[in-house]
Formats: sequence, structure tokens, C-alpha cells
Amino acid sequence: MSEGTETLGRMSLIALDSVTGRVIRLGGPGALTAQQIKELPYAKPEDRHRYRCLNCGERLILQRKNTDPRFRDRFKHEGNGGECTAPPEIIGETAEHLLAKEVLQAWLWSAHPDSAPRIEPGVFGLGNDRSYRPDVTAWSGRGTVGIEFQRSALEIQEPAARVRAYRDDLGARRLHLWIFSTTRQTRHYVPGPMRRTVRGEFATVRPTRDQIEIVRAGGSVYWAELTRLRQVLYVPVACRSIRYSIEPGELWAPGDHGDPRLDWHACYPELDLDAELWLLVPVPLAECKISNNREFLIAPRAYALAKALTAAEPGREQHRRDAAAAAYGKASEELAGLRAELEQAAAGHGPAAVALAEQDAALEHAAELEQAAADHREQLAQLRQSVQGLQARENDLAARARRGLVARALNGERRSTLNRQRAAVQNQRTELYPQINRAELAARQAEQAARLAHPGAAGRARAEAGAASANRRTRQAAAIERDVREVQTRIGAAESRITAYGRHAEPAAGAI
Ligand SMILES: [Zn+2]
Repeated sequence: MSEGTETLGRMSLIALDSVTGRVIRLGGPGALTAQQIKELPYAKPEDRHRYRCLNCGERLILQRKNTDPRFRDRFKHEGNGGECTAPPEIIGETAEHLLAKEVLQAWLWSAHPDSAPRIEPGVFGLGNDRSYRPDVTAWSGRGTVGIEFQRSALEIQEPAARVRAYRDDLGARRLHLWIFSTTRQTRHYVPGPMRRTVRGEFATVRPTRDQIEIVRAGGSVYWAELTRLRQVLYVPVACRSIRYSIEPGELWAPGDHGDPRLDWHACYPELDLDAELWLLVPVPLAECKISNNREFLIAPRAYALAKALTAAEPGREQHRRDAAAAAYGKASEELAGLRAELEQAAAGHGPAAVALAEQDAALEHAAELEQAAADHREQLAQLRQSVQGLQARENDLAARARRGLVARALNGERRSTLNRQRAAVQNQRTELYPQINRAELAARQAEQAARLAHPGAAGRARAEAGAASANRRTRQAAAIERDVREVQTRIGAAESRITAYGRHAEPAAGAI
């Protein structure tokens, strides 16, 4: 049976001593020794009213064990048939809530040995006659500190009214701390996004209406993790989202980390009640103290950090503005470059116009090469014709010489003349062959070069070059228009980027 449920039964091993404000355990972890139990005040009439149930706040009677070894010392509810009247929904919460209260009490004892910290009975009591009391109180009369620990999922009953009641009860010199548990997500602990700062990463919460009401009424709000192993107080620093304005000559284009204009502002030292997030700065509970005038909680580490965060803001803004100005400078340079490109394009030096001119030049060159090839071919034909003529003449001379020999009609002198003539014609013919080879080679090379010069127009270069030169002006005009349009599109994109994320720098006064 856990401590929590044990206190809810008819019998209980745990009670609050309302005189000392301490928790008394008759069994389990942290129990009193047999001797201490024996010494508990018991017999006097006023002792009958000092023990209270930690859940319902009702009186408990200490029942001494008798001689029967099956019995032991126990607390029993005095009224209501011995039953606890605490609402069932707080049953599961009791043990941790009680532990937190004991941790807070121990902290006050250690940080302020003169503070006489008391755990007060639960607030769910029915018919209980006491005025409103927080969970733990310290000191008394002037300069009182009251601490509420909230881990329940329950709605807080009129928090502002409770802060005011406590103030009315105890005067202005009082600190009313409301500490919300972070150990479990309840309606009082609504985690926000993690916040990364140069000092590390911090959890945030979204303040609830109750918490805002508490601060507005004069209470103080904190969060804490209060277990046996870990006792950390979280001090809130309000954070408000901000959006930097765009100044002339800045360009705030979104980057890898999102919109650079979005940032946040830490509100320090006042807790901004309109802030959407409260940053939680963890501070070991042992480092915290109550101020001497009992008016605030001292957590030096949290305040140093809040101050540093606030101090870092102007530098962060400047850093981003510098980047925005640099981005604007880069964009203006790009724009100037594009405008120069536009001029070049309009003057016919754009890529399409240049490509067209190159294409036409290649076509003309190919046409020239084709012409050269044709010339070589013609020369070749003439040479071949000459060879044929010479061959015919040679044959004729040979035939005449043969006929003269057969008929003995020609004397030796004539025959030798014919043979000499024939040899001369043969020489002429032989000399033509290298020329034929050269002409053939030249023609082939020219044809090949023409194909390389303008592959698309193989064999048709001369015709195409003619057609191209006929409509050259129209084609040039179209290419220039294409070039101009392309640059204009890029100028439009660059301009709209500046318009969307920046502002054009105003020309300096007097500048044209
Ligand atoms: Zn009870």
C-alpha cells in the first residue's frame, strides 16, 4: 500500500502535526523511531486537535497500540465515521504532492534556518474553520512566505482570489509563490517549443489563464521538478515573438533556417503577461533564497541568464541586419549585371544572336568549301578528258608506225619520228596522273570539311547559305528579341525577390 492511498483509509500511518507543521510517519520510509512515536504528544486535551489528515485537513486521533501484537499506533479520522472526505480524484497525486511539500520545507529550513517552515493541511477539507493557507508557509506575521505546489490536473479554484485572500490575511509584505510541477503534463504545465540560445537550449511553457491571473493578482509563478533525486526550480523569462522591420537597402530573403525576420525578445525583469512563451531557466533549488524583505525569490543564475539574453538581442538584430544589407548589395549587383546584359542583348550581342551569327558563318564557310570541292571535281574531269585525248593520240601514232612497218612504206627515219612523237604523248599523259590524284584528294577533303563545318547542311550548304542570307535581317531580329526577353524575365525575378523580401534603397538626397 502506498503512502498516498494509506492516508485515505479508515486508518492511517501518516499525519500532519498542525502545531509544528511537520509530517509524522508512523511506518514506512522516513518513519519515526519507536521512541519518537512513544514521545508524541497524546494525552492532553489540546493534543486531540493537533493531528490533521494531509488530504482532507480533518482532525486525526492518534490511537496507541495496546498489548495485542497485531495492533500498532495509528491515526484515525475523528469525524465522518472515521472516513477521509478528500475527493477521490486527488488520491493518485497525494504521495508526490506531499514529497514536494516536504522538499520545499527542507529547502526553507536549510536556506533560512529561522523561517520556521510549516506544511499546512490540504485545502480540500470540508467544514474546516481555518482561513486560507498555502501548502507550505514560512515565518509569520509580517514578512510571510507562502508556497503553493501544483501538480494536480485539477483546475485551480479562483487563483486570483486566493492570492488576494493571502495578501489580505498577511499584509503587503508577503511572497506568494506558485510552483507548478513539470514531471507530468497537466493543465498547469503546457510545454512550448524548445528555445535555442547561445547559452544552450531551454524548455518553454505557454502560460495558462490561471498563471496569468496569479501574476496579475501579485503572486509569483515558477515551475519545478521536485523528487528525491532532483530538485530544480525553473524561473520563467517571458519571450515575445518579434518581426524585424525592413529598412531601405535590406533584403530579408528566407534561408535554410526559415524567415530571418522572425526573432524573439526576452522581457526582463518584468514578466510580460502578453508574451506567448515563457522560457524556463533551470536553477538548483538549493541555490535559491528568499529576499530579506520577503518580497521576491533570489535565483542569481536565472537573472544573470535573463540579463545576458536581453543584452544579446541588439547584437543579434545587428548581425541579421548586416546580413540583410549584404544580401541587398548582392541583389543590386546582380540586377546591375542583368541590366548590362540587357543592353548587350538589345545591341545584338546576346547568346541567341551570337549563336545565329556563328551558325551563318559556319554555313558560309561550308558553302565555300563545297564550291572548292566542285571546282576540284571539274578540274578532275578536264584532266581525265585530257588523258583520254592523249591516249587516243598515242594509239593512233602507234597504229601508224605499225602500218608503215608492215607495208615497208616508211623508211626508218619516219618510223623513228612516229615513235618519238608517241613517247612524248605518253610522257604528257603520265605527267597528268599525279595532278588527277591531287585534284581528287583536294575535292574529297573539301567535301569532308564542308560536312564538318555544317553537319546539318551536308551537300546543301550552298543552297541554305543562299536562303539564309535572303532572310538574315528577320532572323537576327527574332534572335535579339529572344535574348532581350530572356534577360527581362531574369530581371523580373530579381526585382520581385527584392520587392517581396526587401526595400529598395532610397537614392541619397541630391543624387540623380
Ligand atoms: Zn482525510
